[in-house]
Amino acid sequence: MKHGNLKMILLTVLLTLCGSVWANACEGLPDEVSKLMEEWEQAGVKTDCTVNQLMAWTVSHAPNKGSVGPITTEGIRLLNAIGYENAQNLQTYSQANFDAWRKKENGVSTAFAGWKGSQATVIYIPEAKQYVLVQYREHPKNESASFNIKVEYDKNSSFSEEERKQIDEAVDWWKDRLKDKFELTVEIIRDPSINAGGTTLVGDVPRSCMDHQPGYAEIRLKSVNPSLVSHEIGHALGIGTASIFKNNNVCSRLAEASKDIPEISVSSARMENGKFFGSLSKGVLMVKDNDGSYGHVSADAKDEDGNASAVQPGLGGKPSLIDLRILEDLGYEIK
Ligand SMILES: [Zn+2]
Repeated sequence: MKHGNLKMILLTVLLTLCGSVWANACEGLPDEVSKLMEEWEQAGVKTDCTVNQLMAWTVSHAPNKGSVGPITTEGIRLLNAIGYENAQNLQTYSQANFDAWRKKENGVSTAFAGWKGSQATVIYIPEAKQYVLVQYREHPKNESASFNIKVEYDKNSSFSEEERKQIDEAVDWWKDRLKDKFELTVEIIRDPSINAGGTTLVGDVPRSCMDHQPGYAEIRLKSVNPSLVSHEIGHALGIGTASIFKNNNVCSRLAEASKDIPEISVSSARMENGKFFGSLSKGVLMVKDNDGSYGHVSADAKDEDGNASAVQPGLGGKPSLIDLRILEDLGYEIK
C-alpha cells in the first residue's frame, strides 16, 4: 500500500510537470513542428505560437502541398503581414538532416545553439520532407507621443525654400487630421525622369494587415506643388499602397487564416468587386492598375460634401472625407 501511494504521488508530480510543458506548447501544431519548438526553446531560441501556427496553416492550406518555394514565399508574406520581418536568410534542411542531428546531438537544439535569444520558427513540408527555418524579429515601431510625418530631403536633390514651404503645407493637410502614436518618415527625392510623382513604401511591415503603420516612404517628384505632394502623401499613408489594395492580396489570405487562429485579428477592411469596404468606407470605387492592384481612388467617388479623393488618378488636393475614412479603416485614428 505504501508503494502504491508513492506511485500515485510520483504520477501526480509527473502529470503536473507534463501539464506545465503542455501549457507552453502551441495548440494544433503538427507533432514534428511542436517537437522542434520544444527543443529550440530548451536551447534558448525564442518561438512565438501565433507565428508557428500561421506557418503550419500555410503548409496545410497550400494549393500544392509539396512545393517548397511557393509555400515558403506565402509563409514569409503572412509573417510580414502580422508585423514581423525576417531577420536572416531562409535555410532549408531535409528531414534526413534533422534526423541525423537528433541522433548525433540528442535533439537538434544543440545544432542551433548559436541562435540563442533570436526568434525563429520552422515550416515543415511533409510531402517534400523539407524544413524551412525562418529567423524573424518584431518590427520596431516608430512610437511617438503624437502622430507625425517627418520630412527628409534626399541629399542629392535640391529644393528651394519656397518648395519646402509647399511640401510642409501639404504634409500639414494630412497631419492635422490624423491622431495616432507613430511617426512616418517621408524622403523627398527630385526625379526629372518621371511623369509627375511616385511613392514607394519601404519595408514589408508597413503593409501589416493588422494595423497599417507605415514607417518609411520615398516620394519622387518631378516638380513641387502642394496638390501633387498631398496626393503622394496619401499614397505614403497607405491609400492605394497598403496590402489590401495589392494584387494577390495577402490580407484576404490572412483573414482566412484568422478564422482558424484566434490570436490573429485582422481589420474588417477588404476589396470586393473593385471597391474598398471597411466599417466607414461603404464601397469606395478604386481604379485598377495594369498589374491588377488598385492604386488610386476613382474620380467618381465623392463624399457627401461633393469632394473627391486627393488620391485620384492624376489629381491631388486636400484630403477629403473619403480619404480619411479609408485611413481610419486601415487602422488610423482620425481627429
Ligand atoms: Zn498616384
